[in-house]
Amino acid sequence: MKKSILFALTVATLFTTLALLASCVGKEEEGGSGSKAAYAIDIAVREGLDEAYLTEKVVFTNSSSVAIDELVFYLYPNAYRKDSANSAYFDDMLKTNTEFGGIDVSGVKVNGVEAAFETEGILLEVSLAEELGPDKSCTVDLGARIDVAGGTLRFGKDGSVARLSNFYPVLAYLDDNGWERAEYSRIGDPFHTASATYEVKISAPNNVAIATSGQQISVTENNGIRTVEATAENAIDFAAVLSAEYSLEEATSGDVKIKYYSKGAGKAEFVAEATDIFTEYFGEFPYPEFSVCESPFYYGGMEYPGLVVINSALSDSEKEEVIVHELVHQWIGCAVGSDGVHEGWVDESLTTFLAAYYFKLAGDESRYLSELADCDRQYAAFLITEKLSSPGYVPSIARNVYEFSTLYEYDAVVYRRGCRMYASLMELSGEKKFAKAVKEYYERYKYADASGEDLIACFDDALGGKARAIMYSYLNADVRTGNIGV
Ligand SMILES: [Zn+2]
Repeated sequence: MKKSILFALTVATLFTTLALLASCVGKEEEGGSGSKAAYAIDIAVREGLDEAYLTEKVVFTNSSSVAIDELVFYLYPNAYRKDSANSAYFDDMLKTNTEFGGIDVSGVKVNGVEAAFETEGILLEVSLAEELGPDKSCTVDLGARIDVAGGTLRFGKDGSVARLSNFYPVLAYLDDNGWERAEYSRIGDPFHTASATYEVKISAPNNVAIATSGQQISVTENNGIRTVEATAENAIDFAAVLSAEYSLEEATSGDVKIKYYSKGAGKAEFVAEATDIFTEYFGEFPYPEFSVCESPFYYGGMEYPGLVVINSALSDSEKEEVIVHELVHQWIGCAVGSDGVHEGWVDESLTTFLAAYYFKLAGDESRYLSELADCDRQYAAFLITEKLSSPGYVPSIARNVYEFSTLYEYDAVVYRRGCRMYASLMELSGEKKFAKAVKEYYERYKYADASGEDLIACFDDALGGKARAIMYSYLNADVRTGNIGV
């Protein structure tokens, strides 16, 4: 999700509530529990960009230590059905939206043999004829028809832009406790998936520009149909954005190809310069290409590996803030995955702080300080109101997405208060030790899945054991240990 966008109160006025960015989620641990998968996806998007047909082959290896007798996939488009019990749409959207989404799985084979499967809500459960032990593999083939949802949420089409995110059946997260079955949440980024390999073929009418995650290896046109083939490695997800009205601007950052898709003038050079700055700060950009796609969007922005969506209604300055935030997520949240369902703060809080710190790295310290002040003001405004109605309210950052009541609360606590947590650490550590902690986190967990404790340990190591108590005070709202949040 993106995610945060920076939203200053000016942006909040554009929407009914604060928009957040989204974030993403976890990856498998190297050599540890989880799953290993290679997806081969072929999706044909029909004229109008509101319907698609998909075939998918998944080669799956059980990397957990337990034998399993079923496979569990998420069918996120089903959160966009009109009758979804756990809808992606907010209540006001449900009243006005006219085009709903969904995915109908037509058949599943395991190792070439028809397999029994059940779908319920966003879950697809496939029975295995034989148990699959640790390190054993199987191949799954499935077909599906997809209705692209209307509206401005992550998966959907509004105007000429179709955002194909969370569109394909994706394996749930597997560990030694079995499959995780996380309910959809309209708050936060309720995703946790393992790093995988993708080979994706997307076709659409040949007047449609197709932006994708990964590296585009071919673009062909036949009988009025354009087909893009893309590959991605070490990716926790794969997304595409399509529009017949896009123009494309390109630039480079080192060996990384920067693509900017928009209806008007793009900001490819800004993206390239920001990528240069963060490459120096974090280390190598984790993917071969980076595409920024402007779109009508409920949120400020949302990140996927190698591709981000940016709200086209933002001002020029706001777009830059959102781009920077989503760019940071390429390292923190995408390359280093984490559990967006239970520990959304792990990528969002650090990303929000580093997106503010970007301006100092770029030579504009006053804007950095102003971004921090905005964070503090927004959190203070939230807390004052919240305490009026709930005097005993405890603003813990470390909660799962289901424990937040509103997007506003999630934004104020996880993004804004989380940003202040890192600003406090920076004041204590100085910039060099802080950078050392961030680099260590990236190096240690690149292309893997990190927990909150993993992140805390990196800061604690770099700060000589002084980070943990401060972080706990914010994460768990323990005022006795120096909670200096507003
Ligand atoms: Zn974010």
